[in-house]
Amino acid sequence: MAPYETLCRLTRETAILQSIEALIGWDERTYMPPAAGEYRAEQMTYLAGIVHQRRTDKRIGELLGELATSPLTKDKHSDEATTIRQLQRDYIKQIKLPQTLVEELTRASVLGQQAWVEARKNNDFPSFAPHVKKLFELKRQQAEALGYKSCPYDALLDDFEPDALTADVAKVLADLRKDLVPLVQAIAQAKKRPDASILTREYPTAGQEAFGKAAAAAVGFDFHRGRLDVTHHPFCSGMGPHDCRLTTRYDEHFFPSALFGTLHEAGHGMYDQGLRPELYGLPPGMYVSLGIHESQSRMWENLVGRSRAFWQHFFPKFRETFSSARDVSLDNFYFAINSVQPSLIRVEADEATYNLHIIVRFELEQALLSGDLPVDDLPGAWREKYQQYLGIEPTDDADGCLQDVHWSAALIGYFPTYSLGNLYAAQFFEQADKDLGGLATQFSCGDFAPLLQWLQRNIHHRGQCHTAAELIQLVTHKPLTHAPLIRHLRAKLEPLYGLA
Ligand code: ZN
Repeated sequence: MAPYETLCRLTRETAILQSIEALIGWDERTYMPPAAGEYRAEQMTYLAGIVHQRRTDKRIGELLGELATSPLTKDKHSDEATTIRQLQRDYIKQIKLPQTLVEELTRASVLGQQAWVEARKNNDFPSFAPHVKKLFELKRQQAEALGYKSCPYDALLDDFEPDALTADVAKVLADLRKDLVPLVQAIAQAKKRPDASILTREYPTAGQEAFGKAAAAAVGFDFHRGRLDVTHHPFCSGMGPHDCRLTTRYDEHFFPSALFGTLHEAGHGMYDQGLRPELYGLPPGMYVSLGIHESQSRMWENLVGRSRAFWQHFFPKFRETFSSARDVSLDNFYFAINSVQPSLIRVEADEATYNLHIIVRFELEQALLSGDLPVDDLPGAWREKYQQYLGIEPTDDADGCLQDVHWSAALIGYFPTYSLGNLYAAQFFEQADKDLGGLATQFSCGDFAPLLQWLQRNIHHRGQCHTAAELIQLVTHKPLTHAPLIRHLRAKLEPLYGLA
């Protein structure tokens, strides 16, 4: 077999193992009985070890060496050149990581997540602290093994947002914060207020589930190739070219949580479903970066799901489904779901203040990694930052530093990709609106296919043939800036709050 075909075969076999890892990881977070935790950790550690062995196999290195000057690499953005380039990148990173460290990290993150579930339930940070110490110590070792440009955080960020640098991300977030803070302050002082109590009436789970599934299907999530289940901390996980699992959680007294969570995860799912199935497991059939992945979820959640046009279509069905909301008007409902209010829980934060939640985490995890912030001081530092950026602070750690799964799962350097996702989403959406000639009219008729097809054509089908920076330039003819997101927020919020 020719070297390129051999390389693809070996890579696809590794993808089979990784999809099995994803499947047992999904099970662990949805239906696994609690007593199965220790053995599941062994299963996952063992599989991660095999995957790491395969990705660092000398044979892969030899094949990549043979292919380095192959004519297949000529057209940089072709599927073949992308496969060779990205596998080379992955191989170089992987061989720098000792097998023992990979196994230790997997084990620590499985145990960490189990400890986190208990700690959050019992509001018991001290029981979780040893896991955080262990995880950050292992991540420091990882950064040192990989090497970095300016700071260890660069090395960890690269796992989630390839080629991005800490300093650049910090700058984009600073630009955004500069324009966002005055907007949020103006809203806080506005006389016009939404009636948010509309959203905390009685919304039975069965109705929410039916409504959420119908909405996800209407925007284009394919339930023949995916499903929706319940978990503590919603996520989306792909485990094969035709198997994408969404999860959500239901709160009978807070309507937005499940619906917008479902639309968010469906946005991730539609990206997975939009990748070319015949290239599953190979770079041209894989997502670009978590920032680009998040741009898809935030687009469907916020730019589509919280738009007036979306609700012009869905509001009659909403009133029909929930008897408690029969007297609510579309205008009042639309204002309520776009309410801006500093809050404690990131996943329930509004579009405008959301990035402040991210900045808190981005700063704290850098300080934890560098050692400037001792783990035991985390709850206090968390409260201080919330006070500083959002003007509020949690009374217990369950609503504070225990609310997110990420650190317990060794996902350090992940948080900033949420904000990058917001920025990418707004910039892509502005371009799609221009290209497709008025998305609002289409949404109000329940027609979401043109946008989804635009995303498939411009983003999903391209896989990793372009970097995130190349992709935004190619599709929108500009580099990433914070301006489209600010324009979108002003255009929506200033009229609502009587500021325009
Ligand atoms: Zn997401």
